[in-house]
Amino acid sequence: MSDDLTERVAVSEVENLETDRRSTEGTPQLEDTQIACMDCGESFVWTAGEQVFFRDKNLLNPPKRCKDCKKAKNLRLDAIEKAKVTGERHRIEVKANCARCSNPTTVPFYPSQGRPVFCRTCFLELNGKPK
Ligand SMILES: [Zn+2]
Ligand SMILES: [Zn+2]
Repeated sequence: MSDDLTERVAVSEVENLETDRRSTEGTPQLEDTQIACMDCGESFVWTAGEQVFFRDKNLLNPPKRCKDCKKAKNLRLDAIEKAKVTGERHRIEVKANCARCSNPTTVPFYPSQGRPVFCRTCFLELNGKPK
């Protein structure tokens, strides 16, 4: 939750930073890096160009999500903010992997960290049938 916010404010924060200290010496050579998306688990490429962008913006944490999931996350945040303003509840679909069978599924809420998400089949099996 808090990292969602820092990702958003970080861009405006860097405007106060000095730009004249532009030493290219000693700059480590950046290479494309593979990162596993925390939402869908797919690995995506964090390109050297994007790493330069992050460094220039003084962003310390590498991205945690692939582009699609990042887009989806921003849509969710927008929907949540809109819902706060209008008081309406928006239907959201969040991609997640089932904690039991690890199949990808969607849930109509934003799962909180560490809380297991189950696909429909597992959910029904866990809640419907007595052991
Ligand atoms: Zn993803
Ligand atoms: Zn499942």
